[in-house]
Amino acid sequence: MGKQTRYIFVTGGVLSSLGKGITSSSIATLLKHSGFEVSILKIDPYINLDPGTMSPLEHGEVFVTQDGAETDLDIGHYERFLNKSLEKKNNFTTGQVYLSVIEKERRGEYLGKTIQIVPHIVDEIKQRIKSVGEGSDFLVIELGGTVGDMEGMPYLEAMREMKHELGNDYVLSIHVTLVPYIKTAEELKTKPTQHSVQELRRIGINPQIIVARSEKPLSKDLKRKIALSCDVADNSVIVAQDAQSIYQVPLNFLQEDILTPIARHFSLPEFKPDMQEWNLLVKKIISPKTSVTIGFVGKYLSLKESYKSLTEALIHAGANLDAKVNIKWIDSEMLDQNSLSILKDLDGILIPGGFGERGIEGKIRAIQYARENHIPFLGICLGMQLSIIEFARNVLGIADATSSEFDPQTNSPLIYMIEDFIDQSGCQQIRTHTSPLGGTMRLGEYPCILKANSKLQKAYHGANSAKERHRHRYEANPKYREMLESAGMIISGESEGLIEAVELRDHPWFVAVQFHPEFTSRLQNPNPIILEFVHQSLKQRC
Ligand code: GLN
Repeated sequence: MGKQTRYIFVTGGVLSSLGKGITSSSIATLLKHSGFEVSILKIDPYINLDPGTMSPLEHGEVFVTQDGAETDLDIGHYERFLNKSLEKKNNFTTGQVYLSVIEKERRGEYLGKTIQIVPHIVDEIKQRIKSVGEGSDFLVIELGGTVGDMEGMPYLEAMREMKHELGNDYVLSIHVTLVPYIKTAEELKTKPTQHSVQELRRIGINPQIIVARSEKPLSKDLKRKIALSCDVADNSVIVAQDAQSIYQVPLNFLQEDILTPIARHFSLPEFKPDMQEWNLLVKKIISPKTSVTIGFVGKYLSLKESYKSLTEALIHAGANLDAKVNIKWIDSEMLDQNSLSILKDLDGILIPGGFGERGIEGKIRAIQYARENHIPFLGICLGMQLSIIEFARNVLGIADATSSEFDPQTNSPLIYMIEDFIDQSGCQQIRTHTSPLGGTMRLGEYPCILKANSKLQKAYHGANSAKERHRHRYEANPKYREMLESAGMIISGESEGLIEAVELRDHPWFVAVQFHPEFTSRLQNPNPIILEFVHQSLKQRC
């Protein structure tokens, strides 16, 4: 028998988008920095098996784990805060829970019983939670959605049962709510908090800590009022006022003394987190010495959430270089020949990943501009594919160069689809232009061999290989390799015969990669390529 894990459930009340993900990450970070082994789990109460097939407009970013799972973007926050890689099991959905139960039923594992939400679905949920917690001192569980949602009921029941089975000493409930400021009355209102706690209590859950999101500070009296009406201790109302940076939230929680009620609840001695290095990085985010402007040429600019990992990775790079990274958002669909002047004052140009044909011509124009004007450039995934297409069109003179993603019948498939491929677990898969979207991508971590003396290798401090994460269906076509190389494009990264990275010989810093470096960037451990890109852009300024 291993050690008994302590479970911290984080629920949300009143409305969504209260920052439960950042709250959960911040609590887990403080526990980790107090010397504990901490893991974290996100439960999504929707029916999709994973967010992989959802539109970015619907869901924001799809975060890819090392083991190739397409997960909720909160998993990205967890990794960035905890500075550790998580796995597929750290995020599950109602769809996955029902699928496992139905598969077990089909295999006859329930011995002829009628399958019901209680106990079968709830048991499956509890078993999944426990298996994620195994081996950790603490497991923080963030329950998606808002208390009162129909979809969330089985999870709240699982939480109640776990408390019943393990006892108060091993299960803690934290409820995140909103204390809105009503301008006309010039008052902060606690009623929504009271109502959402009542809703929890109706189903047998008494939260022990209330995290109150608010745009203004709460007076002592107001905190006491919440404590009294929600039946929590006076020191257990934690105010989460809007912060300048998400990375400041653990520090704010520490100031609100959140660790005292947590330690007391679990009957543990006082926690003493070491947040010195973290503090320093946050200072550099909030008051940096210098600044740099990066042009971000993308498609879903109306929903910046779909580029979350990348914008966070730029913040990490900035924090480590003591520079504010200003992002100039450039809608690729608007970028025609006449509007290229908006690229003029940029210190660096970045083309992120993407799917589909929309907006690609504008991106190709931006790439040509960066190449010809010697502006530091980073292309990611689709950004690398388009860099090759741009080079083929404008340097090699292959006017119709494209990707078979945009034209399956093209005569010049610089980017093509490998129909027969071996996935991360060593299984053979077949994909075609019409195969289903879910589960047919090259996903997760693969090693990339770095070319000696390349800019890419320099970024990785001279290493011979690097491991990065993927999420794509198409690949650079090796048929054109020699032509590209003889005209000055260097293949600087390779993985089992696949072209993983390219750069330009006659350019100060033009690097494009097939993988997504942003998925491995953390505040305390920025991704080397993104760090080097921002560093080169800073140099461009001077
Ligand atoms: N659409 C391209 C592909 O599937 C690139 C994907 C991406 O940028 N993530 O290969």
